[in-house]
Amino acid sequence: MHQKPDADAMGSSLGLCHILNALGHEVTVISPTNWAEWLNWMPGADSVIDYELNMDMSNKILDKADWIFCLDFNVLHRTRKMAEPIVKAPGKRILIDHHQQPQKEVFAYGISDISKSSASEMVFDFIESASLGHKINQHVAQCLYAGVMTDTGSFRYSSASSSVHRMVAVLKDTGFDHTKVYESLFDNFLENRLRFIGHALLNRMEVFYEYNTALISIPWKDLVKYQIRTGDTEGLVNYPLSIQGIKFAALIIDRDEEIKCSFRSKGDFDVNLFARNYFEGGGHRNAAGGRSHETLEQTTQRFRASLIENALQLQ
Ligand code: 5GP
Ligand code: MN
Repeated sequence: MHQKPDADAMGSSLGLCHILNALGHEVTVISPTNWAEWLNWMPGADSVIDYELNMDMSNKILDKADWIFCLDFNVLHRTRKMAEPIVKAPGKRILIDHHQQPQKEVFAYGISDISKSSASEMVFDFIESASLGHKINQHVAQCLYAGVMTDTGSFRYSSASSSVHRMVAVLKDTGFDHTKVYESLFDNFLENRLRFIGHALLNRMEVFYEYNTALISIPWKDLVKYQIRTGDTEGLVNYPLSIQGIKFAALIIDRDEEIKCSFRSKGDFDVNLFARNYFEGGGHRNAAGGRSHETLEQTTQRFRASLIENALQLQ
């Protein structure tokens, strides 16, 4: 899965892990970095290895693996320090992903299908097309549901197709409690995270009505003050899109080791292209990310300048 995994990366990986286990395979799930605490409820999360904390052991596992499934990313740099050991490992790499422009040469087999809502939906398709639907139990269902629910914005994005809803019906038939999954993901934060959101919206948001755009920029000192942990800033970038007329939202965070950018749009404005052109990133048309090696000040300045260059597309 990609670094700092979200619910789709973790859910698709664990969902596949449970199926492969049920078939008698020996499976290890490795995350390139740590992850948000609010993913720990997922069945199997307690045995996921954090690569950065267990490099020697993980490298040995990678070297011995016959198959290496790469889920929810398609360019190796998204696995950070794991990229090199993954590419050097002798096992066959299999890609299951839904982002644009896969790094095809490193995978023996794979699909990178941008029409798919989530890697979790693709794992579901993989299970069904292998005629293994009968192996989908409540554990698999919880993991895949978490992934597809979060990646479709709780089923509101256009990617929430009829197949997504049919998949949910199949998952639901296992009898798992979807309300509990929702609450585990969205009603599971600490007070300081909500105070931080309030502060960010009140003091750190700029709205550029002439470009139908809003920017939230967060200095490192805010992350320290509010004791922000991995995963706590997820979702913040979506808030400005609830302002009437706003169709492009950006979140630029000084994470100390680098500046992390998140972009979201409504409609035609292609943030995948925007992230590629200006911020060494990519993603999907309406949700993308990137980074900057400049200061926060320089990065936001460059963002403002980029709006002028994109004025036509943003009107
Ligand atoms: P987020 O803003 O949540 O970090 O990322 C939004 C979407 O863009 C996610 O689907 C994520 O996987 C993708 N994404 C984020 N950063 C990058 C990047 O640097 N390159 C590519 N290709 N995709 C990214
Ligand atoms: Mn995903």
